[in-house]
Amino acid sequence: MDFKKCNFHCPHCSEKLNNEGFIVLGTKRPSGEEGHIRLATSFGNYEYRHDPDIEFPPGEVVTFVCPSCGNQVHSDKYKDYAMIKMHVTEKIVFDVLFSREAGKRRTYIVTEDGIESYSEM
Ligand SMILES: [Zn+2]
Repeated sequence: MDFKKCNFHCPHCSEKLNNEGFIVLGTKRPSGEEGHIRLATSFGNYEYRHDPDIEFPPGEVVTFVCPSCGNQVHSDKYKDYAMIKMHVTEKIVFDVLFSREAGKRRTYIVTEDGIESYSEM
């Protein structure tokens, strides 16, 4: 499945989060530092750009927030995962979960048929 043309939305305010191939989210670190992260929308690609320019140490658990409404975009069910909505078509919406832990490269797409897993390729 090609998800590159899908749009990603905040689960709270439904604002579109992706722009030009990247999902943009606000970040908060355990140290209290805040920033923005740009994540590639192609699954299996774990490149990111962070502003300010930092590398997250492996194991750090990052808080992700919607840049529009400021709410945390975390899964209720899987606390270590962020969760955003992926709109495949107007009627087909999947949950996308990705690990909040730096260095843990796990992404899951929850579809009607179950869970598809995407790991580092
Ligand atoms: Zn929002």
